[in-house]
Amino acid sequence: MEDNHYFTLEQVAEGVWAAIVVPGSGALGNAAILDLGDITIVVDTFMLPEAGSLLRQAAVNLTGREVEYVVNTHFHGDHHYGNQAFVGSTFVSTAGTRDFLNGLESLDYEKWQLAIREQIVALTHSKAIQTDERVRQALTYEISDKEHLYVSVPTIRRVLASMTFTDRFVIHGSKRTAEVMTWGGGHTMSDAFVYIPEDKVLVAGDLVLGKSHPAMLHGNSESWVAILDQIGNELEVNCVIPGHGPVTGSESITEMKNYIKDIEIYAKKAADSDQSIDFWLDQGDLEPYDSWLLSHVFEWNLRHLFKKYQVAKMV
Ligand SMILES: [Zn+2]
Repeated sequence: MEDNHYFTLEQVAEGVWAAIVVPGSGALGNAAILDLGDITIVVDTFMLPEAGSLLRQAAVNLTGREVEYVVNTHFHGDHHYGNQAFVGSTFVSTAGTRDFLNGLESLDYEKWQLAIREQIVALTHSKAIQTDERVRQALTYEISDKEHLYVSVPTIRRVLASMTFTDRFVIHGSKRTAEVMTWGGGHTMSDAFVYIPEDKVLVAGDLVLGKSHPAMLHGNSESWVAILDQIGNELEVNCVIPGHGPVTGSESITEMKNYIKDIEIYAKKAADSDQSIDFWLDQGDLEPYDSWLLSHVFEWNLRHLFKKYQVAKMV
């Protein structure tokens, strides 16, 4: 009844549902619906207002009440462009995320669409010269996501949090608790996550993904690893609803940590060598991550980190 072409719903515990996106649909980032017994919460709202609207309907259908709180985990649009569908809800984010979004220029739809069109051209070119079938598939989804965003752009309103927190914001329901927390930034400059202690569920935002390459362009690897260490040390986690990819167990926290460390080492080795970035990209994805989803993101990460280490070499 609830499924549609943007996302599928997966119940991971009593009162806890993962809304896992359909690749290429334009929804792009996963979301979650939490029924605390007497309070309904949604974590992240997809990249498109229309998908956000269906998420709100799903939350109302599943819990029997309107959504009281919408938590946005970080500033990336695939986690909050659906916000406007949640009329009457209270929006919650870290102070850092709100400050960043509030400091951006107001939305210029024409400029935005032009930029997306240019990205689509570049992605289409990358796909044309790509020989790895997995990367081609990932690029096909990415291009399709961008096409959907392009069409939706003129309808998108930026809805900022009306309630912010700096470390912890706890919502006590009659049946379970949502601990909305941040330990700083790693994937971005400020990342929040939600922990449900009764069910040991972590709604991770993009701090933890399900066997998918995480975008490292806006983050800080060292603090990201430190946050993952702290999650591992302080929270008992049985189930992770990740920002991208399928629902996973606690092993994905370690996998994410290993990915960040391994790709940093690989990029440093590449930058220290006499070979160009193209030589290293020709070697293909780093194992064992060559089977992960969003495989085109590997190139973005390697290029970004390669540049970082090259600059460091020159200093
Ligand atoms: Zn993100």
